[in-house]
Amino acid sequence: MKERPILAIHTGAGTWKNVDDINQIVDIIKDSLNAGYEAYRNGNCLDIVTSSIEVMENSNLLNAGLGSTLDIVGNITMDAGLVNGNSMKSGAVAAVSYPKNPIKLARFVLENTPHLILAGQYADELAKRINIEKHPGPSERSKKLWKKLKEKAEDKFIIERIKAAKLVGYDTVGAVAIDKDNCLSSGVSTGGVSLKLPGRVGDSPIFGAGFYANKKMAVAATGIGEVIITSLLSYSVSRNYEANEDLINSMNFSIEEINKKFGKDTVGIIGIDYKGMVCGVFNTEAMPWGYITTEGKIFIRGLP
Ligand code: ASP
Repeated sequence: MKERPILAIHTGAGTWKNVDDINQIVDIIKDSLNAGYEAYRNGNCLDIVTSSIEVMENSNLLNAGLGSTLDIVGNITMDAGLVNGNSMKSGAVAAVSYPKNPIKLARFVLENTPHLILAGQYADELAKRINIEKHPGPSERSKKLWKKLKEKAEDKFIIERIKAAKLVGYDTVGAVAIDKDNCLSSGVSTGGVSLKLPGRVGDSPIFGAGFYANKKMAVAATGIGEVIITSLLSYSVSRNYEANEDLINSMNFSIEEINKKFGKDTVGIIGIDYKGMVCGVFNTEAMPWGYITTEGKIFIRGLP
């Protein structure tokens, strides 16, 4: 078979210029791609997506899992979602605090329930019951960041708060993959936007907004959830793709629409298709992302 991309992942759209050591982020991207590659050898598209996302959730340096950012009162609530492109069955969790790896719980919802989204305390109870490891609570790094942002942004309205929080570049993670049987999948995981109101749910658990996959393509979004939901960003890419089967063009078109309606510095997306195309597009200063091929070659893109 011809060499082709099998997995792309991103660490979030933002500025990233205040990140102490971008090489650490590059290392996480490589580790995540390698974990996904291992899963590709013996597993299916969901294995690829979940194992690459777990690495990012466990990194403590990204806004997902261990490194999740805090809401306005200093708590963590996380969202995650994923979909199998062949069946288009998705699974997601919203506003959960218990699981260390929300993507595992989202996968459980996908594979073992007739539902699409489980939220809050009941989803947390399920995580406990199926023995998903418990989240240890906010990291020292997230607490420090929270204090800094709170001083800067407390008096601002929510959208300005989100924009101020994004200045540090500290974001959601996502993955899109295709397996040996050509099944596509997309998944995302996030602590949500910093300083959000308690109970706020973003785009990440919403099929068609934060993530989408069908038999031909898969996309994962990052950025201001309110913008992504309103524009149904991931679904909009698939609508464009239906018309032209051109992934890059479809993604660019959706981002241009966002630029017109909501302005720049708002979103980013990664995508992969059945024809072997892979792409990342963002209207922020940076969106670190990378992909790995069937031969295990890694390419890194979107650095500040
Ligand atoms: N999309 C995420 C949210 O709004 C945040 C991010 O991507 O940074 O919850």
